[in-house]
Amino acid sequence: MMKMKIYDNYNRPVTSLRISITTKCNLNCFYCHRDGIIPSSREMTADEIEKICEVASQLGITKIRLSGGEPLLRDDIITIIEKINAIGFKDIAITTNGILLEKYSNKLKKAGLNRINVSLDTLNPTTYKFITGKNQLEKVKRGIKSAVMAGLYPIKINMVIMKGINSHEIWEMFQFCRQQGAILQLIELLETEQCSNNGLEKYHYNFVKIEKKLAKIADRVKTRNFMQDRKKYYIDGGEIEIVKPMDNTRFCENCTRMRITPEGKLKPCLLRNDNLIDAKQALQQGNLEKLRRLFIEAIKRRCPYYLSKK
Ligand code: SAM
Repeated sequence: MMKMKIYDNYNRPVTSLRISITTKCNLNCFYCHRDGIIPSSREMTADEIEKICEVASQLGITKIRLSGGEPLLRDDIITIIEKINAIGFKDIAITTNGILLEKYSNKLKKAGLNRINVSLDTLNPTTYKFITGKNQLEKVKRGIKSAVMAGLYPIKINMVIMKGINSHEIWEMFQFCRQQGAILQLIELLETEQCSNNGLEKYHYNFVKIEKKLAKIADRVKTRNFMQDRKKYYIDGGEIEIVKPMDNTRFCENCTRMRITPEGKLKPCLLRNDNLIDAKQALQQGNLEKLRRLFIEAIKRRCPYYLSKK
């Protein structure tokens, strides 16, 4: 079948699919928004994930990202990557907390994974325990090293910045990333309906000051259009990216993503659960034509979040 490039009603091309493959997690981060997904017990099988990727590829999606929950908790994670890789995407990535990376880095690379984002908010063991509820910091650091050794590239470290918790650690984390050859992504804390706790506002960190400082000391600054207008700062051989979804209309305007939940519901927006399309039956039947129709319908439902609130 001929591949096409598909646009939503706001003239935004849809080029990436974020697949949440489980809602299970081995950490308990107090701020977690669970990728905006309502927990469910059903998980798409590896074959179903393959089917949705086949349809995505036909519709012009070039990038696949696996997330969760913790994607590396799936016993069949290597099979899943192999199946996706066989379809032929430009980019296959995973977002992980890194705990199981040491076990999987080489196998993931061999299966066709291109790159990873590792979520790590702090290098301080006490703060790590406070944020995640677990003592796994050393394991995560070893996991990151194993990913570097395995040749997964680029490696990005996702650091959610929280006032009074880890906002003073940005430079230490930047040095750590630079040493590993990893890119540091500073992420604005988001409070959504799916967050583990409410009352996160007191931790909200305003990026204005740090952005000014980065602009001053950077050797070069790049704005990544069609990556939600993210700014990228090149400093001393290292890289820092800013991901700022709150009240950022440009974030929505440049969104190119479709999402699918572990149970198989197409999700047009991270921040909404009132416009999902249930593709479970089509997935279970392996009905590619029906899946394609549902995918196109989900694309039609995409709407910049700030407009949907008006
Ligand atoms: N378990 C995997 C992990 O830890 O990377 C994947 C799931 S996690 C929900 C995906 C990303 O969302 C992580 O980088 C995490 O830091 C980020 N995240 C979770 N809750 C957030 C929030 N309230 N605001 C901003 N980012 C958040």
